Amino acid sequence: MHNRFVVAVFYVLGTASAVDRCLPGESCFPDNPVVVNFGDTLEGELLLPYMPEYAQNVITRDMVWTKFPIGIVVAKSTLDVQKAVLFARKYNVLVSIRSSGHDFLGRSTAHGSLQILLGNMTETSINLTSSRNPAGEITCESGNTWLKVYEEVDKVNRVIVGGSAHTVCMGGYTLGGGHSPMSRTFGLAVDNLLEVEMVDAEGRIIVANEHMTQIKYLNDSITKSDNNDIFWALRGGGGGTYGIVTKFTFKLHYPASGVVTFGCSYPIVRNDKTEIGHIVLKKIVSMLKNMPTEWGGYLIAFGTFNSDLSWGTISLAMNHYGSYDAPTRSYMDELKNFHPEWQRGCDYQRMNTFLEYESTPKDPPYLSTFLLNTLMQMDSFTDDWIRYMLTALGTKLPQPGFLSFTGILLGGKTSAVGIHNTSVHPGFRSAVMSLSMGITPITQNTTGLREKAAEMAPSLATYGNGQYPNEANADLNNWKEEFWGSNYNRLLRIKHYWDPDNFFTCRECVGSDEMPVPSHGQGSKSEAHSVFGK
Ligand SMILES: Cc1cc2nc3c(=O)[nH]c(=O)nc-3n(C[C@H](O)[C@H](O)[C@H](O)COP(=O)(O)OP(=O)(O)OC[C@H]3O[C@@H](n4cnc5c(N)ncnc54)[C@H](O)[C@@H]3O)c2cc1C
Repeated sequence: MHNRFVVAVFYVLGTASAVDRCLPGESCFPDNPVVVNFGDTLEGELLLPYMPEYAQNVITRDMVWTKFPIGIVVAKSTLDVQKAVLFARKYNVLVSIRSSGHDFLGRSTAHGSLQILLGNMTETSINLTSSRNPAGEITCESGNTWLKVYEEVDKVNRVIVGGSAHTVCMGGYTLGGGHSPMSRTFGLAVDNLLEVEMVDAEGRIIVANEHMTQIKYLNDSITKSDNNDIFWALRGGGGGTYGIVTKFTFKLHYPASGVVTFGCSYPIVRNDKTEIGHIVLKKIVSMLKNMPTEWGGYLIAFGTFNSDLSWGTISLAMNHYGSYDAPTRSYMDELKNFHPEWQRGCDYQRMNTFLEYESTPKDPPYLSTFLLNTLMQMDSFTDDWIRYMLTALGTKLPQPGFLSFTGILLGGKTSAVGIHNTSVHPGFRSAVMSLSMGITPITQNTTGLREKAAEMAPSLATYGNGQYPNEANADLNNWKEEFWGSNYNRLLRIKHYWDPDNFFTCRECVGSDEMPVPSHGQGSKSEAHSVFGK
C-alpha cells in the first residue's frame, strides 16, 4: 500500500507531516483522456464541473457546507464504487463520500475531492425467511431514503428502525448510530444492523457481520475470519471513515396492531405574562422515567411569539407502537390532564400503520442550520438545566433566525445494549434524550451564527454525557471524547488497521486529527482542514 512509509515516518516523529492530495493542473493529476476513460468505465456517470448535472448535485442539503469536488462519481453499483476508489488511490486524489448530503458538519463533501455519490444506489431486497431474525431482514443500498424503505417494508407488513426524516439516507445515518421514532421500542439503527457490504481503502469488497469478516481481493480471491472489529466500528464509529458501505442489512419487525400519535403544546409565557415553561418542562421530564417503551417521540421547544401573544412553545410530539386500546397508550393522559387551561392543543390521533405516521411530516428542501447536542441522562434534568433552556430560547442571535431545541426520546431498548457492544458513545446507553439545539437563519445571511453555536455548545454539553456525532456542533475541541468516549481508542486502532494512510478522512471523524491531512499545498494542518470547513 503506497504512503505507508510516510505514515510510518509520521508515527515515528509524532508530527503531522501533511500529505498533499493531487489536484487538477498539478503534474500528478491524470490527463483529460484518462479522466474521460475512467468515466466511461462506470455503470453510473462521472459529473465534471462544466456539466449542468454537476451543478444540480453539488449543493449539500445543509447548504452552509456546499463545496466543489473535482468530479462527482454517480455510482450505480458496488463495482462503480470500487473503480472510483482505485482511481482515487492511483492518482492520490482526496475522496468524499455522500449518500444524501445531510451531514450537519459537512463531512460528505470537500473542495478538490472526487466525490462518490451513492444517492442513485437504491436497490432493496427483503428476506422474510431469515435465519437471523424471525420477522425477516432487508438489504438496502446506501442511497435509499428512509421513506422509500418504509414503503418497501410496509408492502410485506413489516416495520423497521429508521430516521424520522424522509430524505435522510442509510449511509451516514446508520454509521453514526441512527435514532428513530421507534428507538425506545426497538433500539438504535446500529442495534438493528445485521450485516454490511463495504469497499475498503484498497478497493477490496468486505462483507462483515457480528460473526465474521469476508474480504474479496482485487484478484477475486476470498478470505474469511471470525474477527468482527470492522463490523463493531461501523456500528457507531461514523461515516466517511472506514470505507464506503454499499449495502446495509437490517432486522425487520412485526407491526403493532395500530399506531397512535399524541401531540401536546404549552406556551412558555402565557399572554397574562405568567411564566409556566419551567413547570411544564418539569412535568414532561418527570414522565420520562416510567414511560412505556411503546412510546417514543420528540420534545420540541422554541421561543417566538404566538398568535394569542403568549411567548414560546414547549411541545411533545409522540408516537405509540400499539393501538388506542392498548393499556400503555393511556400513559399520555397524565399530560393531557395537566393544566388543560394552559394548553395550546393536546390530543391523540389514531393511525393504522407506522408508514401512515411517517408519511405525514415533510422535510424542508434545504437547510442552513448550526447544531449543538448533548445526550441527556435521567439526572441531567436539573433546575439549572431548565433555567439554561429557558434562557437559551430567549437568546438574541447575530442575524434574524430561529433557535430551537429538539429532544429525541431514548431509553427503553436503546438502554438494553451494553456500552461496548456497539461503538456509539457509552452515554447513549443510559441516555433518555438526545437533545439538540439548532440555530437556523431566516435569510441566507449566516454571519456570526456558527460562532454563536460554537460559543453555546460547551455549556449545553455539561448537562449530558457525550454527544451524537450526526447532530453535533462542528467546532468542538474535545470531539473524540464527546462523540465516542471510552470507545474511541478501539475505534482508532481499527482505523489504523483498515486505513493506515487515512485515505478516507473527514471533519471530526475517527483518526482525522492525527493522520496526515490533505493540505492541497495550503501549508499548516489547521489550514488544511479548510477543504472540509469554511
Ligand atoms: C432533515 C434531517 C432529519 C434528520 N433526522 C434524523 C433522525 O431521525 N435520526 C437520526 O439519527 N439522524 C437524523 N438526522 C441526522 C442524520 O443522521 C445525519 O445528517 C447523517 O449524516 C445523514 O446521513 P446521510 O448518509 O444521509 O448523509 P451524508 O451527508 O450523505 O453522509 C453523512 C456522513 O456519512 C458518510 N457516508 C454517507 N454514506 C456513506 C456510506 N455509504 N459509507 C460510508 N460513509 C458514508 C459521509 O461521508 C458523511 O461523513 C437528520 C438530519 C436532517 C438534515
